[in-house]
Amino acid sequence: MSIMIREYFGYDKFDVEYNYTDTKNFQEGLATEDPISPNSLMVDIEGIHVGATRNFTRYMESALKSSEKSWTRPYEKPLIMHHNEKDGKIIGRIKAVHYTDIKTRSGTGALVFTANVPDKDGMEQIEDGRLQTTSIGIIGHDVRCSICGHNIAEAGPCEHERGQIYGNEVCYWDIYEMEGKELSYVIVPSDVYAKNIRIYKPTTQKTQITENLQIHKGVSTVNLTEAEVKQLQDDKQSLETQLQEAQDELKTTKDELKAAQEEVQTLKDAKPDESEVELKHQEEKQELEDKLKEAQDSLKAAQDKLKDIEGELKQEKSLRESLESKSIEQNSATKQALVENYSMLRKLAGKPEMAVEKIQERTQDSLIDAIRDLKEELGDSINVATIKPVTNPTITESTEPTVKKDKKASNIDLEEGLESLFSGIAGKFSNK
Ligand SMILES: [Zn+2]
Repeated sequence: MSIMIREYFGYDKFDVEYNYTDTKNFQEGLATEDPISPNSLMVDIEGIHVGATRNFTRYMESALKSSEKSWTRPYEKPLIMHHNEKDGKIIGRIKAVHYTDIKTRSGTGALVFTANVPDKDGMEQIEDGRLQTTSIGIIGHDVRCSICGHNIAEAGPCEHERGQIYGNEVCYWDIYEMEGKELSYVIVPSDVYAKNIRIYKPTTQKTQITENLQIHKGVSTVNLTEAEVKQLQDDKQSLETQLQEAQDELKTTKDELKAAQEEVQTLKDAKPDESEVELKHQEEKQELEDKLKEAQDSLKAAQDKLKDIEGELKQEKSLRESLESKSIEQNSATKQALVENYSMLRKLAGKPEMAVEKIQERTQDSLIDAIRDLKEELGDSINVATIKPVTNPTITESTEPTVKKDKKASNIDLEEGLESLFSGIAGKFSNK
């Protein structure tokens, strides 16, 4: 099964015949050639290009190439007007077709048709520009829906409509394989690039066509003047020179590269130790770096430890200072007790009263001596118990309750700290 498509613009005019029963008929073989009249007109037409058309058909390169022979075999396909192939007149025949992607109007691959137009009206309209844009009529053998991949040529239409949008995708009919049926002049072509590119008089018929084909295949499809041909030949010469220079340069570069590689190899072969030394050096360096890292870690740990120790020392120092100040305080309390005892014993002994400030001026040892003297003087008449209430806790043996009693709020933490952390010292202190 096949499908017939006529590519002129407009939905109502886009002509599709499903179940087209023509079999592929562009087998190899002699083409039936119509004669070329010396009074006819030759026209080259870029008839169809690779890519999308305004009809939402997309021609693949494979489609264009696959159809190349079909335009002239087994017979030369007609050049008509407005796709009217049934009752319209044929104004010419396609004499040759070739695929090119060099300097095409679309910038993509194209089929270039070389047609001969013997029809007077046709010739006139082509020459005056009325017949200018063209459109192809083809039989599609492989036409697929771009949305679902359904082969429309083989199985008929799918649920998708050409030109409609599904999701973010436009539905195209992608043509992969086709056969030429006719080429037609149309007012509005579907392929916007499809038009005449060269109009000329046939001169020596076949040779002319052959020459034209040579130009098409080699350079471009424009009408060339002798000067242009000369220019192209010069350009070609220039390009060839440039190519040669580039190739020479490439060769030089390659040689240099090879030499450099050889030198590297030679160096490697000559001094195999150097790389080993380097490697060893690197290993040693790595080892040293590892050691350094290790040492730095140790240092850091030591510093942290030192900091901790310093903190502990500081705490201990402050505790010691507190201890010392407490000791001074206790000493002062001892002295105060001695002062009071001395003062009381002097009263008991009937001695004249002394100013407290005066007694305080004396040293502890001096006070202790003075108290001992007074006690001896007073003899057994004095009960030691009487002086107990003012006995310095540091001197007495019964420390526990007295210490508690003497506690000041500011000393509580310190004493507890002493008991827990420096129990030895604290014990010694409290036992003093
Ligand atoms: Zn589909």
